[in-house]
Amino acid sequence: MQNKKAGRHKSENPRTFDLPKTRLTREERRMIELKAVMHSKGNMAEYIRDLVLKDTRIPKPLSTCLCGSTSLKIIYKDEEREVNVGDQDLTLTLTGVPRSECSTCGRIIGDMRLAAKLETVLDEEILWRVNNHHIIPKQIEFNELITITQ
Ligand SMILES: [Zn+2]
Repeated sequence: MQNKKAGRHKSENPRTFDLPKTRLTREERRMIELKAVMHSKGNMAEYIRDLVLKDTRIPKPLSTCLCGSTSLKIIYKDEEREVNVGDQDLTLTLTGVPRSECSTCGRIIGDMRLAAKLETVLDEEILWRVNNHHIIPKQIEFNELITITQ
């Protein structure tokens, strides 16, 4: 059970971030704006948050392995990461990271874009924890990073 996980207090999560600017077609914009009004009274942040929370898809595996096989599936692996906290380097275990496994040769391949984004996200999370005097954990669940605590 994970009910003991303490969520961040609301005052620690002010809405101060913008999503990157997204270019849309005329029809896409119309669709999104009308649906945001229909479902979230036009509150775009709330509409997007609700959609993302409902998105429980598992990622698609890479389509082709280096061996040429196209038979890959998603597995979840723990990985160690070096993070810099103040003047010391800490090793942090990120658990349950999705990877593609080739069922022909057994190779396990990470998604480069996801790895790069995780690097940024973890740096930001550690910095936030340091600045807010939170404990730096030895382990973080990947799943924790793709949910919200309030
Ligand atoms: Zn392979």
